[in-house]
Amino acid sequence: MPRFHVVRDPSVDDPVANLAGVSDKTEAKLARLGIATIRDLLLFFPRRYDDFSTITPIAFVRPGVKTTVRGRIYDIGARQTKYKRMALTEAVLSDDSGSLRVVWFNQPWLVKSLQKGDEIFVAGEADMNGGLVMKNPDHEKVSLRPKNVARLVPIYRETEGLTSKWLRPKIQMVLPLADQLDEFLPAELLTRRELMARAEAVRQVHYPASAARLDRARDRLAFEEMFVLQVAAQMAKRARMARSAPVVPFDEPTARGFVRALPFKLTNAQRVAAWQILQDLARPAPMNRLLEGDVGSGKTVVAAMAMHHAAHAGFQSVLLAPTEILARQHADVIQSILEPFQIDVGLLVGSTPASARKPMLASLAQGQLPVLIGTHALIEEDVQFKDLALSVVDEQHRFGVGQRLAVRQKTERTPHFLSMTATPIPRTLGLTLFGDLDISILDEMPPGRRPVKTGLVPPGKRADAYNFIRKQVEAGRQVFVICPLIQESDKLGVRSATQELEKLQRDVFPELASRIALLHGRLKTTEKESVMSAFKRGEVAILVSTSVVEVGIDIPNATVMMIEGADRFGLAQLHQFRGRVGRGSDESWCFLFTDAEDPPSLKRLQAVVTNKSGFDLAEIDLDLRGWGDLAGYRQHGKDFKMANLLDAALISDAQSEAVRLFERDPTLAGEQGLRRQLSAYRQVFALD
Ligand code: ADP
Ligand code: MG
Repeated sequence: MPRFHVVRDPSVDDPVANLAGVSDKTEAKLARLGIATIRDLLLFFPRRYDDFSTITPIAFVRPGVKTTVRGRIYDIGARQTKYKRMALTEAVLSDDSGSLRVVWFNQPWLVKSLQKGDEIFVAGEADMNGGLVMKNPDHEKVSLRPKNVARLVPIYRETEGLTSKWLRPKIQMVLPLADQLDEFLPAELLTRRELMARAEAVRQVHYPASAARLDRARDRLAFEEMFVLQVAAQMAKRARMARSAPVVPFDEPTARGFVRALPFKLTNAQRVAAWQILQDLARPAPMNRLLEGDVGSGKTVVAAMAMHHAAHAGFQSVLLAPTEILARQHADVIQSILEPFQIDVGLLVGSTPASARKPMLASLAQGQLPVLIGTHALIEEDVQFKDLALSVVDEQHRFGVGQRLAVRQKTERTPHFLSMTATPIPRTLGLTLFGDLDISILDEMPPGRRPVKTGLVPPGKRADAYNFIRKQVEAGRQVFVICPLIQESDKLGVRSATQELEKLQRDVFPELASRIALLHGRLKTTEKESVMSAFKRGEVAILVSTSVVEVGIDIPNATVMMIEGADRFGLAQLHQFRGRVGRGSDESWCFLFTDAEDPPSLKRLQAVVTNKSGFDLAEIDLDLRGWGDLAGYRQHGKDFKMANLLDAALISDAQSEAVRLFERDPTLAGEQGLRRQLSAYRQVFALD
């Protein structure tokens, strides 16, 4: 009986290993670039292009200019260089206008693949070296479909041993399979906005037929990224708006009464933010708002005002802090603000004894305790409310998203949600990343705060800075020392901080050794808490900490913030560290230690010296290093390949298209492909 082999067409879901010329070794290298399947390979977009699209007659080749030439090999040969004994392949190319010498180093095999009489493209820069010579150009035999030269040539992100030159033919080989990729943009939208089809865009982005086609391909791909994100955001928003929340009616006399009782006047920014929040609380759908403001901008009192309003309407509120110490600090502050109104504040932390805990839980469940403050983990665990209207989270997640509190209560209603952060997120970026989030910004400091004097400390000035710090400690002040993560493997920074501690205790401040303490990510919660308490009490004079540990506590007596390896941090992050000092009445300082000598790094750091606004610094960083470096962004878990997250027009277009789509097809029933794409955002937006 004859046997038939079923030959299946290659599929984009096939592993790259199926491709000819991909060994186990290359497979591993491809994996490092995140490429496992043919689909991944197709969606591995070039970083940039070299423009070899115009061919220059040899007579017009100029030294120092990237040029593509098409010529016939007049002569070719191999020899060794005299001094370094390098293999040298030399050729002479000629066209109608003249001839050009071309030299390749260390590519002896070229004499075998290129022969006298072949017509080739070469692309590179020519030098004057006793006549014009083009050294180590890219080359390709003339064919109908040139791959590497004579057009816009894709340059890919490379990894060791895997060059663009290697990737190009592999990608070109699978380009026809692009037709199998899902076209998930709604057909109506594609036509109306005249977007390039997905398969075509993928092909064009690798091998553009022209600069204009490339632009259209990129537009399409950027739009699809932003659109999927905005659809996910709208989906989350619609789900939220469909839930019901406790209505806390806005009551002007109550608001006035609160403000009047404060020992200070609210800043304008605080007034606006509080007003926005109180308006949200009065709506029947749950609020999802981020309150953003530099350290010290006064977020707590804004939250307290909302809690006060809720309590007046007979509802409960909860505030969650990342650490016990912060929870205590908040409880102290909020209690003193709410006391005049006879609003009780309960504190629930790990160390709360069972004897206090039981009655507190009972009164929460019965609705007798209007305000609870505590640590995140604890409250999500076993607390039940009678009628919770508002939950506030302080600094738990840097961006305050992806966070649906699992707080339980007896009613079906979803509490309003407010997260607070000191991470400055430029507004466009906020809108991009959190389409389902409303943002209030405190961009104004309470009056009378003294700016922190900031200085760059090059290696030569280290001793002076240490002397200065010693004097501050002798005068009874306290010091923070922040260490960067030096090795990738040391994710918690245990090593760098431990080394810093040893150095300070042994070599720099031996006389203070017993008053220097260490805080890092591997310490148990209770250990962290006890170190921070000792610092708060003043027993510890110098606190060495990694950047991964959020200290976040208010230490008015701390006057020096010293940051090691400052060039390794984002500007906004440096600014946040700086905000931990300067909270008392004394003058304070921030020292940025750096070994960097390159002008760009120094210029970046100089921006922190001269600039006092976290928002400005975040934008400068975005400008200089791109959004990928924004602290905490990676937490968001989604990378963008094409979309520029600061492109306001793109964002608003994508957003309005997303809204429009839901108006037309509220369940996305007709958009199967799109629904599949959304899965990437499931976690981010807690979609289900
Ligand atoms: P953060 O935004 O960092 O959480 P806080 O809420 O801890 O800031 O406020 C920092 C300090 O500023 C607190 O001591 C607070 O009482 C004080 N404060 C807040 N708002 C004002 C204001 N409008 N005028 C004066 N002081 C204020
Ligand atoms: Mg705070």
